Amino acid sequence: MNGCTFTPEELRHDKPREECGVVGIYNHTEAGNLAYLTLYAQQHRGQEGAGIVTLNGSEFHAVKGQGLVPDIFNHARLQELPGNYAIGHNRYSTAGGAGLKNVQPLVAGSALGTIAMAHNGNLTNADLLRTRLIDEGAIFQSTIDSEVILHLIARSRERSFPRRIIDALAQVKGGFSLIFLTENSLVGVRDPHGFRPLSLGRFVDGGYVLASETCAFDLIGARFVRDIRPGEMVEITREGVSTCMPFQLHEGAFCIFEYVYFSRVDSVIGGHSVWMVRKNQGRFLAKESPAEADVVIPVPDSGVATAMGFAEESGIPYEMGLIRNHYVGRTFIEPQSSIRHFGVKIKLNPVREVIEGKRVVVVDDSIVRGTTSRKIVEMVRKAGAAEVHMRIGSPKIISPCFYGIDTPTREELIGSSKNAEEIRAYLSADSLGYLSEEGLLAASPKLGGYCTACFSGRYPVSVAFDQPRQPQLF
Ligand code: AMP
Repeated sequence: MNGCTFTPEELRHDKPREECGVVGIYNHTEAGNLAYLTLYAQQHRGQEGAGIVTLNGSEFHAVKGQGLVPDIFNHARLQELPGNYAIGHNRYSTAGGAGLKNVQPLVAGSALGTIAMAHNGNLTNADLLRTRLIDEGAIFQSTIDSEVILHLIARSRERSFPRRIIDALAQVKGGFSLIFLTENSLVGVRDPHGFRPLSLGRFVDGGYVLASETCAFDLIGARFVRDIRPGEMVEITREGVSTCMPFQLHEGAFCIFEYVYFSRVDSVIGGHSVWMVRKNQGRFLAKESPAEADVVIPVPDSGVATAMGFAEESGIPYEMGLIRNHYVGRTFIEPQSSIRHFGVKIKLNPVREVIEGKRVVVVDDSIVRGTTSRKIVEMVRKAGAAEVHMRIGSPKIISPCFYGIDTPTREELIGSSKNAEEIRAYLSADSLGYLSEEGLLAASPKLGGYCTACFSGRYPVSVAFDQPRQPQLF
């Protein structure tokens, strides 16, 4: 794969990274409500804020807020979203700034009329483009990289929105699964590497839906039609769905972390059930890193499928030895580390009867900072485990993501500075086993190619920094 590596100094830049979910509804009398439900189904993709923009006649209506989807949209707020067309966005980010101004969809007026946009992914040359646009007099409303796309669309000399979108996107680099709403169309686009997912669904009585994940279709009774292809743009109008491949194609780089952790297990990506893929990763993990043990327990919910695969392959009984309080958000998602540390105990409680006196295999999907796993090992020991063997359904995370998954800086990633034995010692586990990169790839579907940058440090698209440098190509 073409790619580049970066020096630790370059990787220290704390870029805005966003995990997001996007949705678009075309031609349904309850577009606003359905957008709300699909955002609800995709809540795991972003918990910091959400927004919906609807189109009624030629008027755009927007409701945005910070926090969880059901806290933002009550009955009264949904009443403010009339119309048969809608787009929506779930947001989470660390840098780039919290705050309402950064909640999408973004809406902008242009010479061709109004356009609304929802973006999942991260642009790697946004800073350079933003600096250039500001030098030329542009005024930005938000601090998120997505806004440069709207500026490029507004400045394009092309005569239609689809052409302007193509013109704008040809100038950006990185990961984007985008949905646009204009007065005449709903447009969905995936970047030429296909970093982030985007799927097309259909309602029985004719309308269409675009969403990051297919689990959203199930909730609103839409039928899955197909995935949008890497580099493809679909335009949905009164005439139906038209498609084009306007960008120079690159080797596929679908984010393998979507299968490992990020997507919901009831979604289907690339024709493959995320649940089945994750279970298979657990099977490969058991083959690569077997353990002499009495019971396999998952870290719920992220480790459940992987642990089941591990248990099936190893023949060791599977039990729920840790119970999750579902009314607490994902610990990693809490922005401040003081809350995150506290969160592990709020979130998980051991079942002593499952654990006491046993040699326990604890399975999770990944280790990021290591703080959660360390607390869990301690918790399982305190519940009376004779031995604790940690098994992880992915390789060591050594490098941050620049294409749309929120990972901390390189220094905070425990895998960037410690080897597996040092991490085992830090966790106080009796043993630690990661799935290898080869094992992960072998356990995952044969799609057109994966981005494994967080595990390998090989970045398929260069990251442009404020001071442009020549990335090291290999
Ligand atoms: P840590 O304490 O940072 O090692 O947290 C590891 C846990 O965070 C694992 O249980 C993962 O399931 C979860 N996790 C991994 N990546 C992410 C992410 N990008 N956002 C939220 N949670 C994550």
